[in-house]
Formats: sequence, C-alpha cells, structure tokens
Amino acid sequence: MNWKKNEEITIVIDDLGNNGEGIGHADGYTLFVKGALPGEKVRVRMMKQKKYYGYARLQQILTPSPDRQTPLCPVASACGGCSLQHLSYNKQLAYKEKKVRDCLERIGGLDLSEVEWLPVLGMEDPWHYRNKAQFPVRKDKSGSPVTGFFAGHSHHLIPVDACRIQHPAINEVVSHILGFMRDFHIPAYEEEQHKGLVRHIYVRRGHHTGQIMVCLVVNGPSLPYVEELTARLREIAGMTSICMNINKKRTNVILGPQMRPLWGPLYIEDTIGDIRFRISPQSFYQVNPVQTARLYETALSFADLKGDETVWDLYCGIGTISLLFARELERRGQDGSSLPVGKVCGVEIVPEAIENAKENARSNGITNADFYCGAAETVVPELVSQRKERVDVVVLDPPRKGCDAILLDTVVQMAPEKIVYVSCDPATLARDVKVLGEKGYEVRKVRVCDMFPQGGNTECCVKLCRIG
Ligand code: SAH
Repeated sequence: MNWKKNEEITIVIDDLGNNGEGIGHADGYTLFVKGALPGEKVRVRMMKQKKYYGYARLQQILTPSPDRQTPLCPVASACGGCSLQHLSYNKQLAYKEKKVRDCLERIGGLDLSEVEWLPVLGMEDPWHYRNKAQFPVRKDKSGSPVTGFFAGHSHHLIPVDACRIQHPAINEVVSHILGFMRDFHIPAYEEEQHKGLVRHIYVRRGHHTGQIMVCLVVNGPSLPYVEELTARLREIAGMTSICMNINKKRTNVILGPQMRPLWGPLYIEDTIGDIRFRISPQSFYQVNPVQTARLYETALSFADLKGDETVWDLYCGIGTISLLFARELERRGQDGSSLPVGKVCGVEIVPEAIENAKENARSNGITNADFYCGAAETVVPELVSQRKERVDVVVLDPPRKGCDAILLDTVVQMAPEKIVYVSCDPATLARDVKVLGEKGYEVRKVRVCDMFPQGGNTECCVKLCRIG
C-alpha cells in the first residue's frame, strides 16, 4: 500500500477473480487487474487502493499467457459484456468449473470427493449464440444515435456495431432501427437530463422458429413516424412482433409498466425439443438456445423420473422445465407402465410468464401441469398447506440472488427425495446448498453448462438427495 496513485509496477498474475479480472500480488497486497491472465507478467498502473486490496490498470503484457486469445470484438476490453474474450475457450470453461468448485467447497463447505462431477458442457462454436439483446441507445458526439454497452458498472456507453455474441439477425434489426432514427431525427434518450426518446432497443429471436420480436423502450407516450418504422421492420425476414414499451421513470430498470403492440402479437414462439413455447417480452427465456437444451437435459437426467412423480418447478418462467418434465412423465406413463401419470406444479412471480406457461401447456396438449403466480416464498408455503401432497422432486431455478430462506425451509418441509438446483450464480447456489445440507440434503451430482461463452457468468446444475 505504499504506492502512489498512477505509479507503475510489475507483477505476476496468479489467479482470475469472480468477474474474470486478473489477480496478482505485490508485497502481499492483492491487486485486481482487468484483462490480465494467470501466469502473465504485467506492467500495471496503480489506481484505487483499499486496506487489503486495490485495483490497477493493465499497461503492458510483458510475458503473455499461452491461453491468451485475440478478442474478436474490438471493444471487448472496454465493454462490460464479455469479460473473458481474451481467454481461450477451453480455459474459459476450466475457469467456470473452478469457480463452481471453489464456491461449493468454500461457501458450501462440501467435500467434493464424494460428488459425481460430470464433464462441463461447452459450445462447439461459442459465438453469435444469443437470442436476446437489450441495447441502450444514446447520442454519440455528433448527436447520432448509437447502441452499445455500458462500460462495467458505469453509465458510459461504449458503442458496438455488431456484437459478436448476438445472432447476426439481431444485430441487423438494431442497425435498421438506428437507420430509422437517423432518417427521421428521432432523439436518443439522454439520461442525465432525462430527455430524448428512445432508451433501449430490445430484440428477441426464436432460435428454432426464426421469429423476431422488436420492442422499443421509449421515454414518452408515443413515437413519431411509428407507421414508417413498422413498415420498415416488417420487411425483415422473420419479423413477427413489433411493440413499444413506455418507460418514463428515471431508473436502470429497462422495461416500464406499459407495453403497446404495434404490429403482430405481443409474443414470439420458439421450440425446445418437441414443445412449442410462447414468450412475452416481460417473460424470462434463457439466452443461449443451444446450451439451454443441454442444461434442461441435464436437469431431466438428474431428476431421473420414473413416471408417477409429483414435481414442483419453482421459479418456472414460461414453464420450459415444467413442460419438459410433464411430457417426460406422460411419455413414461404411456410406455406400458401401470403407474398413474405424474404431474408438475410450476410457480413464478411474473404474471405474463405464468400466462405464457398456462397457454404453453394448453397449446402443446399437456394436461399434467399446473401453474401458480406469485413469489415462491409466499405461494409455495400456502400451496403446501392446502394440498398436503407427497412431492418427489423439486426443481429450483432462481435468479442470481438465489432462494429465499423461507422457501428453502418450505422445500425441506416438503421432503422431496430429490432436489434439482439450476443456478446462474455459484456463490448463492453454494450458500443455499449449505442450508439444505444442514437439513438433510446431500449434493450428489454437479454439471457446469456454459450458457454465456466469452462472458464471466456461470451456470450449473446440481442434484441433491434426501438422506435418511
Ligand atoms: N426456469 C425458468 C426461469 C428461470 S429464471 C427457465 O429456465 O426459463 C428465474 C425466474 O424466477 C424468472 O422467471 C423470474 O421472473 C422468477 N422469479 C424471480 N423471483 C421470484 C420469486 N421470488 N418467486 C418466484 N419466481 C421468481
């Protein structure tokens, strides 16, 4: 801690931190260096210093790591989106596995020698995989509208022309909209003054159907030349749904409360396996369709269904996992088994997602799935006391903050034989697994599935079984 701000020193990086940043040490003091890789000798400039750790900026790589790859994207290092683009894909996968391991051991207190660790599921082609974009729109220096990403934890927009992890059709839609804004002088949103109009361009694409939905998030009640916009967008192959969302608040939350259809229905469809899903703009849908299928297959194999089970799918979104499981229960029931066909109960907080889930069950002819809307931690305890039914399997797929403590207690009370935990944050997973461990559930299997190639987020699936 004896360095002046902006002083340059040379260090060796020995690890990668939670957000893909390099970690090195100087005189026992820990330094975080964005963009540096383990094994690299680097020249860094001292920035912010705290008592036990500090941040330094990468100035020069003196000895590059053999695992370094040249990012495809010219703004990869500035933009907060892809924190691992400079690391070879195999090492990205190894990093994510290690992250899950470390969390389960350190936070979860697990002895992993007892756990079956299945090989990580990586992508063959880890680019252009995303089916969803929510790009902020701002003015550039010349006043022209641009889209891009906010540099990590800031409100500074880094313009990105064609994002390398998006499906190309999505990038094309975005550039059409920017063209429209330029042609008709539609102002981009200005955050500080809270004026201007277009805040975000939100695009979603069904991977298997090719259906595209565009939603313009607007800081006002209407959009000038909206007919011209819809006419232009309708020319794009696959376009099925165009809508506008009104968000007049000073907030980081992207969507406002009001959604207005401009053309086509207020949803797109996509398929996973032989099930067709309707997806509203407000509903969650996994962003990497190739890996989603693998993640769900993993969850299904961890549940190891016989056919007559009762399954609860908590945090079920539009019912993707619920309906896959319901179909599997049905299929096993029909395979000459004399067991009654099992059923699935899904719970989710977003009303539009639950509407989708119910419609998805109906349109796919799935009759053994029910859905309930509300916070899992309030709805599940109520349902449990009303129904008093045996529950065999609970699927948990919470957002990054993990499961509410009340919900975990309720799940333990339900005493399912198996819990399949799908997690997008290994730290909260490990915290929850620890709670479940203290109440009689043991982790049996773990599999990491890379949903976010080039980025640092880590997805995995864990199987827990009740002991005793
Ligand atoms: N299993 C689904 C969704 C997973 S994402 C899929 O794979 O598509 C997590 C979901 O939890 C989101 O749909 C989110 O809206 C929902 N959610 C967030 N907090 C919740 C809560 N307290 N209770 C129930 N659902 C919640």
